[in-house]
Amino acid sequence: MNLMKVHIVVPCYDEEAVLPELFERLTRAANSWDLEWNVICVDDGSSDRTWTLLQGQFEKDSRWKAISFSRNFGHQIALSAGIHHCADADAVLLMDADLQDPPEELYRFINAWKDGAEVVYAVREKRKEGPLKRFCYWAFYRLMKKLVSIEIPLDSGDFCLMDAKVVAVINNMPERNRFLRGLRAWSGFKQVGVPYERHSRAAGEAKYTFQKLIKLAADGIFNFSGLPLKLASHMGFWISLISLLGAIFTFLQRVFADQFAQVGLAPVPGFATIVIAILFLGGVQLICLGILGEYLVRIFEEVKQRPPWIIRESCGIDQLKPR
Ligand code: UDP
Ligand code: MG
Repeated sequence: MNLMKVHIVVPCYDEEAVLPELFERLTRAANSWDLEWNVICVDDGSSDRTWTLLQGQFEKDSRWKAISFSRNFGHQIALSAGIHHCADADAVLLMDADLQDPPEELYRFINAWKDGAEVVYAVREKRKEGPLKRFCYWAFYRLMKKLVSIEIPLDSGDFCLMDAKVVAVINNMPERNRFLRGLRAWSGFKQVGVPYERHSRAAGEAKYTFQKLIKLAADGIFNFSGLPLKLASHMGFWISLISLLGAIFTFLQRVFADQFAQVGLAPVPGFATIVIAILFLGGVQLICLGILGEYLVRIFEEVKQRPPWIIRESCGIDQLKPR
């Protein structure tokens, strides 16, 4: 009987500190699965010894294949490039290099897949990050739920298994701004969540800067929801209505000055109110322009049709052109 084949995609950015432990633990876990397996590590333009270590591991064990980018393209693009090279697998697993997503848990994904699930995603039960980061994640996932019409499961990251059918769909999506957990949910199929506890990093520092996290969150919202655009027009509508009422009120106040004065509403020359109104409207206009800008930038990115990533070198993999 032919064994089923899985590929594990691992993006690595300056991960020299954790790689030895990753090589050991992932190999040990994968050997216990009774499946044919390969790892595809994507070196996302690291400046440390990550690529040397990956090459060394390929020499030792040719199941550890690797791709090296010409520069840092970001986590989501590294994952996308890895998945792109997995067309021959029956299923693809995604995990981080830093062992926050323990390889020992992957067998649970595989079991769920064998039971018929087409996407198995991990749901984080506990996080080992600081309170501010935890709060941001919490708020982001709830905001997403309010804004986005497809069901993106709360607190699910990229740690997942995808059946070949789902991988084919994702590989055929031409968009460059990739928010994989959104694309994965959008694709449909039979999705199953598996709860797990997110560990802290095995070694090294987090490679996601605050800026990169904001970009990821913005991609999630603006790529999957048109609601912010509508929000702009809603805001515009309500503010115009309020100012119209204000204008009518002021007009009546002038015409019926005496009557208004009797009920204590005599016109007061108000410099402050005018300034506040102007600033407020100015702010709202800038927000609306900003929202338009967020979409415009994304359209611009797509229209340019630049390749989403560039591969410098690879070990054990035929380099495929990005779509
Ligand atoms: N990563 C990457 N490119 C980047 C930033 C991160 O490939 O520009 C990889 C990193 O090596 C790790 C994974 O993405 O394997 C998650 O990064 P990190 O642990 O810094 O993120 P966090 O766990 O804090 O969300
Ligand atoms: Mg991490």
